[in-house]
Amino acid sequence: QVPVITIDGPTASGKGTLASTLAAALGYHFLDSGSLYRVAALASLQAGVSDSDGPGIAAVIATLRLRFDGPRLYLGDTEVSEELRREDVGSRASRISALADVRAALYALQVSFRRPPGLVADGRDMGTVIFPDAQLKVFLTASAATRAERRHKQLISKGMPSNIDSLRADLEARDARDRTRAIAPLQPAEDAQLLDNSAQAVEESVAVVLDWWAK
Ligand code: C5P
Repeated sequence: QVPVITIDGPTASGKGTLASTLAAALGYHFLDSGSLYRVAALASLQAGVSDSDGPGIAAVIATLRLRFDGPRLYLGDTEVSEELRREDVGSRASRISALADVRAALYALQVSFRRPPGLVADGRDMGTVIFPDAQLKVFLTASAATRAERRHKQLISKGMPSNIDSLRADLEARDARDRTRAIAPLQPAEDAQLLDNSAQAVEESVAVVLDWWAK
C-alpha cells in the first residue's frame, strides 16, 4: 500500500502548515481536503444552489473542472485560491460538509491523491473515513484562543479584514458543527496520535511527527 499520513483536527489548528511541511520533507503528495469542500461551496454558491441541497451540490461537484498547480487551485481557467480562503466560503463549506451527498461526491477525488511515493492528507475525517488504513494518523489540536490568533494573523498578513472576536466565535461554531454532525464527525481515529501544538512552533510539531513516522 502507498504510505499515507493523515492530519486531522479543528479549524486553524495548523493542520495545513504541518501537513504541507511534512509532505515537502518526505517528497510526498499533499491533499488539503478542506479546499475541496471550499471549492464545492464556492462553485455551488456561484451556481445559485442552496446550501441545504445535497443532490444539487453533488451535481455541481460532478461537473467541476479542478486543477491543482502546487498550492494554487484552478476552477476551469480561473485561479480561486484566494477566494477559497474567504470566511463566508469557509462557513458555507462547513454547512455543506454535513450533507451525505456532498461527502460521497468528494470521496473518490480524495482517494485518488494516494499515489507513489506517498501522501500527507489533512482534514477532519482523513484517518477515520477516507484513509482508515493510513500508516500514521495524527489528531492535531490547539486552544481556541491560539487558533483564533493564528487565523487573525494570517488574514491581516494578506491584507484581509479581520476581527479576532468574531473569528473565534466563527471557528468555535464551525468546530461544534463539525463535531456533532451525524456523518463523519470530527473526532480522533481510535489509533490516532494526539498532538496539542498550542505552545509549539511548526518545526517542533514537524519533528515530533517525523519521529513517529520513523518508528
Ligand atoms: O479545513 P478547512 O477550514 O479549509 O475546511 C473547510 C470546512 O470543510 C470545514 O469547516 C469542515 O466543515 C469541512 N471539512 C470536512 N472534512 C474534511 C475537510 C474539511 O468536513 N476532510
